[in-house]
Amino acid sequence: MFSLNTVYQKLFACYGPQHWWPGETQFEVTIGAILAQNVSWSNAAKAIASLKANNLLTPHKLFKEDSVVIAHHIKPSGYYNQKAFAIQSFLQWFHRYDFSFDALNAIPTAILRKELLSIKRIGYETADSILLYALQRKVFVVDAYTRRIFTRVGFLTGNEDYMAIQAMFHEHFTGNTYDYNEFHALIVKHGKDRCTKKPACNECYIADVCKQYGLAK
Ligand code: SF4
Repeated sequence: MFSLNTVYQKLFACYGPQHWWPGETQFEVTIGAILAQNVSWSNAAKAIASLKANNLLTPHKLFKEDSVVIAHHIKPSGYYNQKAFAIQSFLQWFHRYDFSFDALNAIPTAILRKELLSIKRIGYETADSILLYALQRKVFVVDAYTRRIFTRVGFLTGNEDYMAIQAMFHEHFTGNTYDYNEFHALIVKHGKDRCTKKPACNECYIADVCKQYGLAK
């Protein structure tokens, strides 16, 4: 039986390192994770660029800013009112730690995850993206591409919830934090380029380990 490690190695060999997550600072990566909810990265990037151009991309400035102004600047990311609310909810929580990522670094992952999930409009995928990409915690990020690809390949039935899928990766994928970072990014790449809704199985790099090769519709 092939393993998650095998799938990772094959995807890495074919697509190469993905250099995620874009962002110059931990704070930018965190805000990017919130803005990327339910949209392509290019739209989130436009919202980040707008915040930067208006000199707003710092915790102190965004914390003081009116939510209407934030919503205006992040319009390209879609769902901008909800995302402005999520950013402000995150900042109210982050303020308790004096906006210090060093303070967050001292908190055990399980506690930090629980706290992030207690913030309004921060769900599993966003919390885990912040943990993995902004805080370098070994936490697997699950998304719709993960579910689709690993159901087709044969690891999932398709009925598992987020936590069950994450638990499978935590139990069976033996990579380190760097590999967790790359694996999720490679899954997104594969889900966009090959294993799309109508998959390009004849061009697939993991076709030899996929149970749905040529069958998925
Ligand atoms: S063989 Fe087809 S269904 Fe399987 S992972 Fe590749 S693209 Fe997806």
